[in-house]
Amino acid sequence: MHNRDTLYINGKWVSPSGRNRIDVINASTEEVMGRIPEGDENDANAAVAAARAAFDAWSTTAPATRGEYLRKIQEGLKARSEELARTIAGEVGMPLKLSAQIQVGSPIANFGYYAKLAGEFQWEETTGNSRVVREPVGVVACITPWNYPLHQITAKVAAAMAAGCTVVLKPSEVAPLNAFILAEIIDAAGVPPGVFNLVSGIGPVVGEALVRHPDVDMVSFTGSTRAGKRISEVASATVKRVALELGGKSASVILDDADLPTAVKGTINACFLNSGQTCSAHTRMLVPDSRYEEAAKIAVEIAKNFTIGDPFGGAAKLGPLISEAQRERVRGYIRKGIAEGAELLCGGPDAPADLPKGYYVQPTVFGRVKPDSTIAQEEIFGPVLSIITYRDEDEAVKIANGTPYGLAGGVWAGSDERAQQVARRLRTGQVDINGGSFNLFAPFGGYKHSGHGREMGPYGMEEFLEYKSMQFQPNSAGLSGKAPY
Ligand code: NAD
Repeated sequence: MHNRDTLYINGKWVSPSGRNRIDVINASTEEVMGRIPEGDENDANAAVAAARAAFDAWSTTAPATRGEYLRKIQEGLKARSEELARTIAGEVGMPLKLSAQIQVGSPIANFGYYAKLAGEFQWEETTGNSRVVREPVGVVACITPWNYPLHQITAKVAAAMAAGCTVVLKPSEVAPLNAFILAEIIDAAGVPPGVFNLVSGIGPVVGEALVRHPDVDMVSFTGSTRAGKRISEVASATVKRVALELGGKSASVILDDADLPTAVKGTINACFLNSGQTCSAHTRMLVPDSRYEEAAKIAVEIAKNFTIGDPFGGAAKLGPLISEAQRERVRGYIRKGIAEGAELLCGGPDAPADLPKGYYVQPTVFGRVKPDSTIAQEEIFGPVLSIITYRDEDEAVKIANGTPYGLAGGVWAGSDERAQQVARRLRTGQVDINGGSFNLFAPFGGYKHSGHGREMGPYGMEEFLEYKSMQFQPNSAGLSGKAPY
């Protein structure tokens, strides 16, 4: 049982202003596995004041020194990686081995990458008679979801700290325990008080208090499009910068000359990862009309091999969904798909027979899904694949682009060249060519309702920087004064 009674503000573990607590539920046992403080506006205000006070010193600390702190945090994450993997496997339900690889491996990589980048980044350049310097934007509120909880936190926090920003983190109240471990690691690394602060609580209270706060310069948010819209509205009153990583409904476009078994397998893997609770999941599989029967048959065989079960059992590829609410949402979509006339090829809304406890949903494949139907348009966030047919390449592109989202996608073809030509026509932030694997250092983020701004790599740190240009008299300070054209 993880009992947390305090918040991390200004370098200390302090009692929250109120007395309410939030239960954290284990996704596979449905039992309470921890309890965290339900913070309120007073706590948010205290954390912002600490971050504001710490900003001047942290932002003027040499970038390489900031990098050294990040390196210590990376070491701390490594030292506690097993505990983190077990905690996240419990909170989220992702099988333990995958949790260790993805849910903990990527945070370790994030801190390592930004530790190095802080020291190597080009912070200044000249153009004509101007010196252009990059400066941290200020105090950043990081608001994060539950599906890859520590990855989403560290993609923001490591990049913001490397940039010279100070941070207030409001983690998801559904999977928050990993964030408390991170705060302990940051504390043990000796990071100066106020540079990183943690306030747990619910979105409309702690989240909105941070977004509203005049001393917060930027909000970096990952979560639902619904909450992202609300955050944009609230943030506009103080004209703060907002970066939004929101939902998706990504298409995997399989062209007529693709190797079908490989493409279908790759698509299903990219759809079912983390029980489909992945914003960039490839949830729509587009196949040529002429190859539908073959593709459907392969898809069912592969989906049936996705064993579901205990995340700690060792054999399962799919764990439970995170919560009862999420399970019911996904089952509702499966019922809707059936009602709207899609062919249910395997799976369905019923609980798997041998798993009476835990929020499990059967891996489900729908065939001949109409591109404008609910299950082809809305983000389901569960292990549900929709197969959609198309007549020619132009129609495939039109269907792929035909949702409000634009986060990720894939193209499979007989050659990378052909796949790339189609990929360039997709209105989406990431496209995997013939199964190209996720790159932690390439820009990640969306078009359209999937949000704006990019995380990961140098692009992620640049989100937290301002430009300042200083103009000099010609020939002063070694600047040419020559027009750059
Ligand atoms: P959510 O939007 O309900 O919550 C995300 C975070 O925002 C939580 O910390 C929550 O407390 C907070 N929040 C909620 N309402 C708020 C408000 N009014 N003001 C301020 N903060 C608020 O999302 P979720 O259920 O945690 O996560 C699932 C969603 O996140 C999915 O839609 C998924 O696609 C999306 N997601 C996107 C990405 C991406 O990078 N694009 C990554 C992961 C998840």
